[in-house]
Amino acid sequence: MKRSHFLKNTFLSLGATLVLAACGGTEEATTPSSDAAAGPWVVGTEPAFPPFESQNDSGELIGFDIDLMKAIGEQAGIEIEFESLPFDGLIPALQAGTIEAAISGMTITEERAATVDFSRPYFRAGLAIAVAQDDSETTSLETLEGKRIAVQIGTTGAEQAATIKDAKVSTFDSAPLALQELANGNADAVINDAPATLDAISTGNIPGVKVIGELLTEEFYGIAMPKDSSNREILNAALEEMIANGTYDTIYEKWFGTAPVGTLPETAF
Ligand code: GLN
Repeated sequence: MKRSHFLKNTFLSLGATLVLAACGGTEEATTPSSDAAAGPWVVGTEPAFPPFESQNDSGELIGFDIDLMKAIGEQAGIEIEFESLPFDGLIPALQAGTIEAAISGMTITEERAATVDFSRPYFRAGLAIAVAQDDSETTSLETLEGKRIAVQIGTTGAEQAATIKDAKVSTFDSAPLALQELANGNADAVINDAPATLDAISTGNIPGVKVIGELLTEEFYGIAMPKDSSNREILNAALEEMIANGTYDTIYEKWFGTAPVGTLPETAF
């Protein structure tokens, strides 16, 4: 879509939101067509995973996932309320039915898909190994044998680390804490999602750290919902529309500075 078009559409939908807010959502034209869809949806997130979700100095949630979820809410006519939770508490909260969805840079895995449902993939990511800048020994997963590895609890990075022979794995509540352990020299490596690690390096939050080699995995993020949630179709329809009309690309460029490379698959596996 041409820039002028999507800018116009963005402003139009912004206008629609303001109208909705001003009328308290009672205007017929702004009432979502789908009955149970109006929300509010309580959406869980662990806000220590920039650039996907974090808190600014005023404590507001910001990030790619946050903008994407808000835009989904606008697209589908659903009020979104975020709730901050630990990453390893998101799936239990979905199972307990205390949140309607979770957006938190969460990889769609077969194991997770056995307990929760996922939206279509909305982001292509993968795991990367981070080491100290002056480390020339660590060049691959194999060279991490017997090393001290810091990871975030409950993540795909933690799962990878658990497969390395004789590694001393220490787990942290958040990715920045694991990366800090490496920057402090108390760990030899961190296995974490590449976009999050690269963001921490480029913002200067973890000095003296580099990412090595190729990505260890290709992973796709999805929005998680309770099993058999009737919201899944609504969410997917909104995502598809945003991918088609350029809203997705606008949000992507805002947080990553470039257009997304390639197209997203419709399913993760
Ligand atoms: N993508 C990784 C996972 O799902 C890490 C997510 C995160 O730390 N927020 O396990």
